[in-house]
Amino acid sequence: MSHHPSEPRIPYGRQQIDEADVAAVVEVLKSEFLTQGPAGPAFEARVADYTGAACAVAVNSATSALHIACLSLGVGPGDWVWTSPITFVASANCALYCGAKVDFVDIDPKTCNLSVAHLAEKLNRADKAGRLPKVVIPVHLGGQPCEMEEIARLAQRYGIKIVEDGSHAVGARYKGEAVGNCRYSDIAVFSFHPVKIVTTAEGGMALTNDEALAECMALLRSHGVTRNPAQMRAQPHGPWYYEQVALGFNYRMTELQAALGLSQMGRVEEFVERRRVIARRYDEAFADLPLARPVQRSDVLSSWHLYIIRVTECASFSRSDAFTALSEAGLGVNLHYIPVHLQPYYRDLGFQPGDFPNAETYYEEAISIPLHPGMADEDQARVIDAVRGIAAL
Ligand SMILES: *Cc1c(COP(=O)(O)O)cnc(C)c1O
Repeated sequence: MSHHPSEPRIPYGRQQIDEADVAAVVEVLKSEFLTQGPAGPAFEARVADYTGAACAVAVNSATSALHIACLSLGVGPGDWVWTSPITFVASANCALYCGAKVDFVDIDPKTCNLSVAHLAEKLNRADKAGRLPKVVIPVHLGGQPCEMEEIARLAQRYGIKIVEDGSHAVGARYKGEAVGNCRYSDIAVFSFHPVKIVTTAEGGMALTNDEALAECMALLRSHGVTRNPAQMRAQPHGPWYYEQVALGFNYRMTELQAALGLSQMGRVEEFVERRRVIARRYDEAFADLPLARPVQRSDVLSSWHLYIIRVTECASFSRSDAFTALSEAGLGVNLHYIPVHLQPYYRDLGFQPGDFPNAETYYEEAISIPLHPGMADEDQARVIDAVRGIAAL
């Protein structure tokens, strides 16, 4: 089942850009504002409306959104931030940017999201040791929402803040409501990288129902500089007057990106529905194979950013052999993720193999296979054939 060179590789994810998206960006290019114009606020309003969150702050990446989310919640030196080890490194790095320390909560081997049981137990121990985290960052892996109601209950009990890393979860639903509405969190973050659900090329957003947090994040997005007299220390010296009142950054999203995002939001439901159809077809096609398929909780609807199969001990072939065979068959397979605590940078901070056993077992088993809304049925048939082929290895 070697890859025939005439067949293009099927990427694990990719953007879907239509003529309306192109026109929206071109219109901005011909307009007065390339940055800090009307498209940014319009995109923010659109995503706030879609999710039901009161406030939205668009930025140049989800990484930036995670950083200013942590800062606005007061994360600094001496604080702890906890997240899942099975995530992109940005979910943990945001705490280090603030001078805080990072720890991880092992995953639930079924959903592969941060385990609520482990979280409860670890909070109990940290409470006794006087080392409670200031912020916990649950990550909705592959677009399946974490058990947010239970997480919110623990957060309330221990007085900690919650930032949802919803980078994968634009369009996902939890207990009938849109992820991003922040019913069970202080802040939720989205990514608009091209492989994610909707894209702005690079881009991200922080959503919240707390106006003060939104104001703080908007300030940090743009150098900590304000022209709003209510945020100033002095009386304005004149109409030119601005003040820097915090140490912020340039994390702004351009108008081109915001216009693209606004246009893409018109198709978010279509994208997610197509992803769900593809995922259901994989579920059916692989039902008889000795592979673990993604386990979905009954109270969620995933946005299906990723379809992760797992080659468990019951298979007669190894994950590595399967990965190589799928790659040779022309599939853009990938691995989401190498446990963050095993990265050399984190090893240098003191983490070791064995620290989070469920995450490490998951890492030995996982393969992300292609899933994106632009995949034709023939592409999916090729993926299915290749995956069924590895079962014969
Ligand atoms: C993609 C991703 C990020 C970072 O998003 P950027 O927009 O590329 O900065 C953070 N967390 C998770 C879980 C991601 O998948």
